[in-house]
Amino acid sequence: MNLRPLFLTVTLLTGLLTPACVHFSFTVVTPQKAGANDPRRATPDAALAALKAGNERFRAGAQTAHHDAMSKVAATASGQYPIASVIGCADSRTPPEAIFDLGIGELFVCRVAGVAAEVNDVASLEYGSEHLGVPLIVVMGHTNCGAIAAAVADKPLPGSLPHLVGTLRPAVDLARTKYPNADTASLVAAATREQVLLEVRRLKASPVLAELIHEGKLKIVGAIYDIGNGSVNWL
Ligand SMILES: [Zn+2]
Repeated sequence: MNLRPLFLTVTLLTGLLTPACVHFSFTVVTPQKAGANDPRRATPDAALAALKAGNERFRAGAQTAHHDAMSKVAATASGQYPIASVIGCADSRTPPEAIFDLGIGELFVCRVAGVAAEVNDVASLEYGSEHLGVPLIVVMGHTNCGAIAAAVADKPLPGSLPHLVGTLRPAVDLARTKYPNADTASLVAAATREQVLLEVRRLKASPVLAELIHEGKLKIVGAIYDIGNGSVNWL
């Protein structure tokens, strides 16, 4: 990263000035790229390019996002200016910050198994773009998704899992209709893609997000993350 030099602000607080209670407060402020004027969030395409570049660093083992994590904590304490929103699966192998090599304050993230987004997820993403000005929403499924596989298998499940599987059923039905002769693995892959595309359409139907798209301030894209090689395949 092309971080500019750190600014060191040294504040001497002399409120109740006795020799025993002179307080030194050191605040390290990094005027890094994150912020309202961050060029990576200037346009939807700039944000998408930043995510693609981050995934390239991730795959190359050349991550930079967490080198200055505490500086980012300090720089974002009073406000957040994320580059993009990601709604992805809860699967432990699919953390968006790692996959896109981004750190504190840089991604606005919702995660739910199978990317089975519901109204509160949509509301969160509306908040991200309408209130925080996030120019890009990525709906990111992944290969070998257990939630999608459960929806394809359609076996009895305990607790709240039937509700989750029910949320994924329209995508499974679409996949079955398109590929009636597909084997289970192919069906899971196809249903994952359908679920991503359904969620993209669902988000685009949000009046709040549709207006931002119409104004050129927002793009919503689908993607499939490959848990086998770390790559993101954009739909
Ligand atoms: Zn999953």
